[in-house]
Amino acid sequence: MVNTTFIRAIRDNLFDFVAPEHCAICNKHIKPNSAQFKMLCYACLNSIPYAPPPNIIRNRFFEHFSEDKVAIDGATALISLKENAQYLEAIHKFKYAGLSQLAYEYGKLLGRRMQIDGMTEYNYIIPVPIHKVKYRERGYNQSYHISLGLIEFVAGEMSDEFVKRNQYTITQTALSKEQRKRNVGNIFELNKKFDPNGSRILLVDDVLTTGSTINSLAKSLKSAGAERCDCATVAIA
Ligand SMILES: [Zn+2]
Repeated sequence: MVNTTFIRAIRDNLFDFVAPEHCAICNKHIKPNSAQFKMLCYACLNSIPYAPPPNIIRNRFFEHFSEDKVAIDGATALISLKENAQYLEAIHKFKYAGLSQLAYEYGKLLGRRMQIDGMTEYNYIIPVPIHKVKYRERGYNQSYHISLGLIEFVAGEMSDEFVKRNQYTITQTALSKEQRKRNVGNIFELNKKFDPNGSRILLVDDVLTTGSTINSLAKSLKSAGAERCDCATVAIA
């Protein structure tokens, strides 16, 4: 485990060093140290298509599950992906091309959004885990890097070791709505040393589509005694 963390740290530093500093959205050059964000230029930061308020985002779960099956109590997101192709492409870039820095920067923006939404106090912050096979392919868990940015604005103990993902699932976006529902069952396993009893938990992920995965994780945590489960995603599709 120490070894993995060590390698991850080296890779992140190397990537920072070699990465050309271009905006992930419009590809414009960003001068080193001239911007707070290395992957997002001011123009693109200023024209982020913001996601609707939390109650509208939480409704997404009720569109796909009956009332008694919704385990998410509150939900927020940063970006609305509807008709905003370039922001969608950037999401795909950071999902598939190892751009952990962009995930971190989106995480900071999401954290600021959560302050506006009044969602800032948690006992635990859990990045939705990916399976180790996927971790090897991708080199990192994007949700973990989003969480690193987010915790600068939201209180709670954050760790990627609270929950483990067991089953290797096919990339959700490749599946139909019905297949997605079947594809997630009881795929998460809580760390034996992690006791969520009576706690307020925030789940962090990249994109909210049907919400199956995140709702399934919330269900597992509530069966283990969690009092409240909110979720925050960079984007809502
Ligand atoms: Zn830009």
